[in-house]
Amino acid sequence: MSAAQDTGTGAPDAQEYAGELGGFVLARSGVDRVSARRGDTEWLAAAWADPGTRVLVLDSAGALVRFGDKEAELVLGPPAEAPEGLRFLLGVDDAGVAYFGVMGPPGSLESLVTDTEEPAGGTPAGDQAAPGQAEAGQAAPGQAGADQAAPDQQLPEREATSQEATSQEALEQEALEQEAPGQEAVRQETPEQEAPGQVAPGQEAVRQETPEQETPGQEAVRQETPEQQTVTEQAAWLARAQPGLRAAGLREAAALLNDRDAGLFTHAVALANWHASHTHCPRCGTPTVTIAAGHAQRCPVDGSEHFPRIDPAVIMLVTDPDDRCLLARNRRWPERRVSILAGFVEPGESAEQAVAREVEEETAIVVTRVRYVGSQPWPMPQSLMLGFRAQAGGELDLRVDEDEIAEAHWYSRAELRGALAAGEILLPPPVSIAHRLIESWYGEELPGVW
Ligand SMILES: [Zn+2]
Repeated sequence: MSAAQDTGTGAPDAQEYAGELGGFVLARSGVDRVSARRGDTEWLAAAWADPGTRVLVLDSAGALVRFGDKEAELVLGPPAEAPEGLRFLLGVDDAGVAYFGVMGPPGSLESLVTDTEEPAGGTPAGDQAAPGQAEAGQAAPGQAGADQAAPDQQLPEREATSQEATSQEALEQEALEQEAPGQEAVRQETPEQEAPGQVAPGQEAVRQETPEQETPGQEAVRQETPEQQTVTEQAAWLARAQPGLRAAGLREAAALLNDRDAGLFTHAVALANWHASHTHCPRCGTPTVTIAAGHAQRCPVDGSEHFPRIDPAVIMLVTDPDDRCLLARNRRWPERRVSILAGFVEPGESAEQAVAREVEEETAIVVTRVRYVGSQPWPMPQSLMLGFRAQAGGELDLRVDEDEIAEAHWYSRAELRGALAAGEILLPPPVSIAHRLIESWYGEELPGVW
């Protein structure tokens, strides 16, 4: 059990659960995951029947988010208003409110947004949509239990329900097949997966199907740093984003969400992505059955149990003896986009070994003093980013692996400041662990960020 449950003192200080760095946007939580409840069908049924329970609905577009000027919150509704779909238990907060995620059929959010944005009860949509204004004191982001205060404002009730009812038959059919968005495509593109024991050659394509992948050119996600949006892109997106309700992906919304919502969204997206791409028993090819409140699958034929797959990736800030920082541009990235080096941990390899191997492969730099500093999940689709610092041990001449890296350079803090000010380089966005690692070396908030 978590510290929160043991002590009853509320969510623990985030730093207590953080590595040396902490403060990662996606490594936050406001609920206890109550993993012991996942097999408790009676408790699960009671929690689902409780109108005070809150449900995060996902579809391929992400989740429904209410954006304010500088912050945002998830739109959570009662179970009765959730569409049919694969259901996950996400946790329970200090007030005893249970949270579930539901992977709805494609279009679930679209209908929610459409209905919710229409004037309801004479209230202009704009007022509804601005946290801290019309809903001040009720649903302002950052307020625990805000959803409970006004459940009928969280999800459109009558209209959405009736609209959904019109296609209820279709929904039920899809729910029966557990057809999460992305799964159809997965099955089409990788029929090989259905054969037992085969390594699917179409796995790259599978990864493309997940909701969070908006950046073009990600065909070979495995081969590149799995964090691609830059500060500038995220700022531009925010500038375009009008206050109001819309479907948004985790990467877009996370930095604006409070701890509870960031944790719920991250957890739900990770599970949804896993289910979307893991539908059959890897031993015998039989379609699996979801168990453990969405946290495992069992094969009905051979009884084998399967758990969410997570791909560990290392990401490392390398410095030289003059404390300059190594930044590189992946060949697949546009001009000017740079970040620190990263790569997936290989089978039979420690994270530290992966750091040393990747740095040497990509830049010919031999590192020493490899030091873990913290981690955050990056469920786009299924990575866990393990953050490290490392020092260049010998030769400082950068010889890049041209298959993967287009260019790499050492930057002093002054050089980085100058390059950012001149628009010569673009850094990863705040949601990324890369951003946080670079910032920790830089020593203050990176310039050019809002
Ligand atoms: Zn099986």
